[in-house]
Amino acid sequence: MKTYMMRKSEIPLRNEWDVIVVGGGPAGCTAAAAAAREGAKTLLIEATGSLGGMGTSGLVPAWCPFSDHEKIIYRGLAQKVFEALKAQMPHVPEDALDWVPIEPEKLKVIYDDLVRGAGVTVLFLTQLGSVETDDKGRITALVTAGKNGLMALQAKVYIDCTGDGDVAAWAGAEYLKGDASTGELMPATHCFNLGNVDEYAYLNGPLLHANNKNSPIFDILRSGKYPQIPDSHICNNMIAPRTVGFNAGHLWDVDNTDAFSVSEALMNGRKLAAVYREALAEALPSAFGSSFVAATGALMGIRETRRITGDYVLSVEDYVGRASFADEICRNSYFIDIHGTAKEEKQEGGKPETIKRYGPGESHGIPYRCLTPRGLINVLVAGRSISCEREVQGSVRVMPVCLAMGEAAGIAAAHAARLPGHDVHAVDVPALRRRLREEGAYLPELAGAEAAGSSRASSSGTRSGGVLYH
Ligand SMILES: Cc1cc2nc3c(=O)[nH]c(=O)nc-3n(C[C@H](O)[C@H](O)[C@H](O)COP(=O)(O)OP(=O)(O)OC[C@H]3O[C@@H](n4cnc5c(N)ncnc54)[C@H](O)[C@@H]3O)c2cc1C
Repeated sequence: MKTYMMRKSEIPLRNEWDVIVVGGGPAGCTAAAAAAREGAKTLLIEATGSLGGMGTSGLVPAWCPFSDHEKIIYRGLAQKVFEALKAQMPHVPEDALDWVPIEPEKLKVIYDDLVRGAGVTVLFLTQLGSVETDDKGRITALVTAGKNGLMALQAKVYIDCTGDGDVAAWAGAEYLKGDASTGELMPATHCFNLGNVDEYAYLNGPLLHANNKNSPIFDILRSGKYPQIPDSHICNNMIAPRTVGFNAGHLWDVDNTDAFSVSEALMNGRKLAAVYREALAEALPSAFGSSFVAATGALMGIRETRRITGDYVLSVEDYVGRASFADEICRNSYFIDIHGTAKEEKQEGGKPETIKRYGPGESHGIPYRCLTPRGLINVLVAGRSISCEREVQGSVRVMPVCLAMGEAAGIAAAHAARLPGHDVHAVDVPALRRRLREEGAYLPELAGAEAAGSSRASSSGTRSGGVLYH
């Protein structure tokens, strides 16, 4: 790669924060709110002009299940966000916990209120440009680019909620990305909304989802008239009056850590949304005949990029064993939802699931050590780039889990900011878990675990695979 040496230059410095969170998706919002709630002076940096990440700017139209099919397990701030939105969506039954639709404009305001209410300073339209470190693995400043030009921003502790692990990777963290042998990433999906849909015809017509063997998506594919539509993936939800949100089709070879790649994909995705509208208007004219593309995501729908290597790597064995950990900061019960290669997704039935889904009441823990990058001192990672094996990322990447781990990262960062060396590996984990429980987190008692695990995050923790919580 050609390089260019920047002329030595001084840039403005702002250094009044205890905690800086980069990325205002679900994980970043709860991380920032929780850090500020603990008393940390907190700055939240977001590249777009709104909070919520994939669930708002990316137009993902529904929450993955909040329950383990028996009860809600993503609690604390996660539950507050979820219930605040549901309360504003009169067509959603009050007791619905799974696959609840999202009206993105309402969710943006809920996140605004969450972070502003906690006292967080928000910096929109600001992109992380580089990360300054010393030779011991400590971040000394972030350099951002925005309408103020370049700025240096300093805090005691940083939380990487970029989804791509930008902060940690640029600080020198080890990471893995994609399939171990081919490097292939899960495909992206550019979500979109269709407006002016006939609600009656949509709700009473055939189910569009590919789970329905008679879905019109199969007629559309068989017709050969819309070759741009790649496969039968077509999740859809009524997100607002006369408006249906779509998470449909796949775009392969998109790498969100390369702005050229994602720029091309955004243009392809916008074109594809118009093709879906045409095809649906023809296949289901009573529902979609007068519809129009009301919006496409401002962000490309990215499922996978970097997984930052932490003090612990959550494994498939842990997932299958429903593992519990002395230092777990939340539980997760979502299935391993890996979207496959073009060949796999185009075959009948899509990519087959190889790891059995959990039964009612089953879940696994996520240890705090998955949030602490190995070799770096004052940075935590929360959200879809935490430390785990690739298959497990296919589960822990979804929004309820990201909301829950964000809250834990925020509390931990505020605690680390009060420690002499601001070392996130030295956080008192039992104290963190107590604070999480006080705030309503679902962290069932694990007999003997608190006693067996050391009080420090850097301990090996206690794993007791096979323990089921009800
Ligand atoms: C197509 C698709 C469908 C999905 N379907 C569902 C679903 O139905 N239900 C569900 O619960 N989950 C679903 N998911 C998963 C889920 O939406 C995401 O994995 C989740 O939002 C990740 O949360 P996060 O906070 O880690 O990151 P994100 O939501 O990706 O947010 C990251 C934020 O950081 C900002 N950012 C990134 N880099 C920088 C930078 N360098 N500087 C400044 N800001 C930056 C971004 O602008 C963004 O706002 C889906 C994902 C995709 C892609």
